[in-house]
Amino acid sequence: MSAIFFPPLIQQINSEICANADVKLFGLRLDLMHSQINGNKWFKLKYNLVEAKERKLTTILTFGGAYSNHIYATAAAGNLFGFRTIGLIRGEENIPLNPTLEFAVAQGMQLIYIDRQTYKKRHTEELQNQLKQRFGEVFMIPEGGCNLNGMRGCTEILQTVKGFDTICLACGTGTTLAGMTLSLNQEQKVIGFPVLKGGDFLYEDINNLLTNYLASDLPTPVNFPAPWQLVSDYHFGGYAKVTNKLKLFCQDFQEQHDIPLDYVYTGKMFYGVMDLIAKGFFKSESLLLIHTGGLQGN
Ligand SMILES: *Cc1c(COP(=O)(O)O)cnc(C)c1O
Repeated sequence: MSAIFFPPLIQQINSEICANADVKLFGLRLDLMHSQINGNKWFKLKYNLVEAKERKLTTILTFGGAYSNHIYATAAAGNLFGFRTIGLIRGEENIPLNPTLEFAVAQGMQLIYIDRQTYKKRHTEELQNQLKQRFGEVFMIPEGGCNLNGMRGCTEILQTVKGFDTICLACGTGTTLAGMTLSLNQEQKVIGFPVLKGGDFLYEDINNLLTNYLASDLPTPVNFPAPWQLVSDYHFGGYAKVTNKLKLFCQDFQEQHDIPLDYVYTGKMFYGVMDLIAKGFFKSESLLLIHTGGLQGN
C-alpha cells in the first residue's frame, strides 16, 4: 500500500478559454494522495479515527450507498490503521458485489444491508441505540464523514496552499466546503458546486455546520469563514446522473490535461468551471479547483 502524500500536487491547467479570460487555473490533486484513501474522504476520516483511538474503541461503524467513496475509504483506512469496520449499506444486497463493495469486503469490512426506510432513520437515537445493542460499543461515523471531526480535517486541506483568489469544489453535504472556509483569508472566496438537484438547500446546512463548529472547542485556523457561495445549476439531472455531454467532457479533459475526473462529483464541477470561464463569470483571477477524488466510482 502506498504512502499518504501531503501536501498534494498542484497542477496548472492551460487552455485557450483561460488565456482569453485572463484566468490562471490550477487543480489540487487530492486524488493522488493515496491509492485507496484519497480525496476529501481522507480528511473527513482523520479526526474521527483519532477520536476512536483516544476513546479506545476498536470498531468503526458507518453508513453509505452501494457506490460510496466514503465506504471505500473507511474500509481501507480501517485495514491500514487496525480498526474493525462495519458498513451499513442502503438497499438490498446484489450478488455479485459491485467493485466498491467487493473492495470493502476485501479490506475486511463487514457489510450489513438495510432497507431504505430504515436507512432514512440513521440519525435517530432509536436506530443508533438498536445498533449499539447489536454491535456493542462502536465508534459511529455518519454517512460521508459529515460531522464536526470531518469538518476539522477539511480545515487542513489548504493548510500549505496559499495565494489563490478563488477555490472551487464539488459539494455533497457541504462539509468539505465548510471546513475549507475556516482556513482562508477574507480576500479569498470559495465556490461550491452541489451535485444534487436543488442544491441551494446547502446554504442552510453549511451555515449550520459553521455555527456548530465555531460554537465547539475544536481548533480553527481562522475565526471567521471566508466568503462563499453555491452555483447550483451543474447537477446534470441530480445525484449520480450522468449524461453523454458530461462523459465526453471528462474524456476530453483527461486527454487534454491528463487529469481523470469522476462522473458524480469532480466531473460536474470542472465542467461548470470551464463553462463559467467561457461565459465570462471568472475574469483576471487565479482559480484553484479541488480534485476531491472519487475515481473508484467510475
Ligand atoms: C464525498 C465527495 C464529495 C462531497 O463532499 P462533501 O463534504 O459531502 O460536500 C466531493 N467529491 C468527492 C469525490 C466525494 O467523494
